[in-house]
Amino acid sequence: MIYNIILTHDCNKNCTYCLNQESEVPFPRQVAYSLDDLKRFTAMDDHPVLAFYGGEPLLAMDLMERMMDEVPAEKYIIQTNGHFLNRLEDEYLFQFDCMLVSIDGRKEITDFYRGEGTHDRVIGNVENLRKRGFKAEITARMCASQRTDIHEDVSYLLGLRDGRDAPLFSGVHWQNDMQFGAREDWDDLDGWLRESYYPGIEFLVEDWISDMELQGDVRLVYPFTGIMGTLLTGTPAKLRCGCGHFNHNICTDGRITACPVSSDFYPRFLIGDIRSTHPRELVNALECGEPCTSCTIRDICGGRCLYANLLKPWGEAGFSNTCETVQHLVNTLKRQQPRVRSLLETGRISMAQFEYFKYNGAEIIP
Ligand code: SF4
Ligand code: SF4
Repeated sequence: MIYNIILTHDCNKNCTYCLNQESEVPFPRQVAYSLDDLKRFTAMDDHPVLAFYGGEPLLAMDLMERMMDEVPAEKYIIQTNGHFLNRLEDEYLFQFDCMLVSIDGRKEITDFYRGEGTHDRVIGNVENLRKRGFKAEITARMCASQRTDIHEDVSYLLGLRDGRDAPLFSGVHWQNDMQFGAREDWDDLDGWLRESYYPGIEFLVEDWISDMELQGDVRLVYPFTGIMGTLLTGTPAKLRCGCGHFNHNICTDGRITACPVSSDFYPRFLIGDIRSTHPRELVNALECGEPCTSCTIRDICGGRCLYANLLKPWGEAGFSNTCETVQHLVNTLKRQQPRVRSLLETGRISMAQFEYFKYNGAEIIP
């Protein structure tokens, strides 16, 4: 299973979506359990994967390196704001299987939400990793908000190339800024969805499938790859971020919660403690309730977000508003499914191209 390790609650940034430097957390700001406790806990799992998270995990680089030295794991993941990636020594860099790097798309959009200079710094650091020969997955992790043009911003990130003319980012994932910040922060959410987001998604899906037809490429656009994979195989999706069943969050005090971003409400999400819980007790520890349980597209959506489902921060109406975006995305992909099937039948593309690193922190459903 994947263990999401909060290495620190500190962050060098104060991005609009998170306002890290203005928020208090009901946990120690730094890790307060012993590495021996963590080691004992992960040793009970035959296939532990460590995913470093924060705050900004690279602000606790020494501790991260000690964990990589002392806590055996099958794979390593990091979710980072990308500012300090250039400081990673080769010895640690090349052990990573997947990096999720926060960037919102074009320079003006990224810098507006994440601060002046963010775009160039992050892109420069990712270019540096590629130049050093890092070939594993680096996915651009976007937040989409009212200034985002989803077609422009995703296309921009997918189009970036490294010095060898290979894609700079292996994949793109985005999450819509819905149900975390206040509903009132949106000037006109419905207008943005109708006039910008929905048409943008339709253009993007068209581009994605044209790439398959023309080049035989299935670009890793997480929301599309994940959902289309489910439509093609018919295998029901579980909650796609993995929370409550496969991706468990280890808080700085050693308690385990189902989701990393619900720390203020942690008693609701508490599912264990590294000192007293066996990893197998975490499997299916927490699941989405209504309306996901009786939703007609539950097997395709998977439930979107445990946090939003259990707490409904925007109320019932806000929850349905968000589900309309899921319905739109699923319907758009369903309409294009025959084109994808015929490409599979002719051998232009293969099912293997729809495989991806599941539950790595990309939630699939935006
Ligand atoms: S579309 Fe909405 S109600 Fe349906 S499963 Fe997804 S999140 Fe739950
Ligand atoms: S999708 Fe929701 S439940 Fe899953 S990690 Fe994100 S906030 Fe947590």
